[in-house]
Amino acid sequence: MSLPVIHHPEYSFALPQQHPFPMQKFTALRENLARFGQKIQWHKPDEIGFRHLARAHSPSYLNALLAGALDDKAQRRSGFPWSAELVRRVRLETGGTLLAARIALAEGLALNAAGGTHHAHVDYASGYCLINDLAVAAAALLSEGQVKQILIIDLDVHQGDGTARIFADDPRVFTLSVHAARNFPANKAQSDCDVALADGVDDATYLKTIADVVPPILSRLSPDLVIYDAGVDVHTDDRLGHFALTDAGILGRDRWVIQAVRQARIPLVGVIGGGYDRDTSQLAARHALLFEAALTLDTAN
Ligand SMILES: [Zn+2]
Repeated sequence: MSLPVIHHPEYSFALPQQHPFPMQKFTALRENLARFGQKIQWHKPDEIGFRHLARAHSPSYLNALLAGALDDKAQRRSGFPWSAELVRRVRLETGGTLLAARIALAEGLALNAAGGTHHAHVDYASGYCLINDLAVAAAALLSEGQVKQILIIDLDVHQGDGTARIFADDPRVFTLSVHAARNFPANKAQSDCDVALADGVDDATYLKTIADVVPPILSRLSPDLVIYDAGVDVHTDDRLGHFALTDAGILGRDRWVIQAVRQARIPLVGVIGGGYDRDTSQLAARHALLFEAALTLDTAN
């Protein structure tokens, strides 16, 4: 058995120098994962189509985003200067999450080596998130009748505010966000379940929190699919997180989540989420922990 992983070379592109977003991390992650050889089965996504995007975002926002017609304020809020490459990468990335979700439904487990753009709202971009890949993938599978109930487990250090608002009135998608109370976004949304933790949380406290929170939701909801945002900005060295998790803590977290979901025989699709270390290879190694967690479980089963 090999692990299905989605990647596209155009997930990374050259941002203007000095831009704080580590856009090269997707290429670095692909290079890091090469060490797993045949244990990974690589898939390349297509750009997501407008009809899929329009299930989670307003047509007026999409038209402005795709045409490069966002006003200055909207563009600043996105965190990125607009470019055709940027739009292409986000459409590939979102196509990647949907493709990974489809493969997960068929095979049990698949990962997108990108994704987790949970701050994108119905009609605006925010915090480096232009399109909400989690929401677009969930909405596509629901509308196709592939699934009836989805659980989004968002363990990025930042709250999944965009996802929470997009599905606020939709009981078919349960949003769980475990995040830092004092971190972006300043105005938190209301997820179906929010767990806001204090700064400085360590491995043991964090893992205990997850182990307390997730199982009752899993058994009560019995979802047809879990979408897992495995952001590594919970790491103690991350620039934008304020938690104190180690590499071992992140690996333990990812193993625990994948195991809990798969033991319940629920398909799981994972995305890498946030991570903002300035050292790209260090950051790629941190994101690779999710893949290592999936691969070690795979061989163990
Ligand atoms: Zn984050």
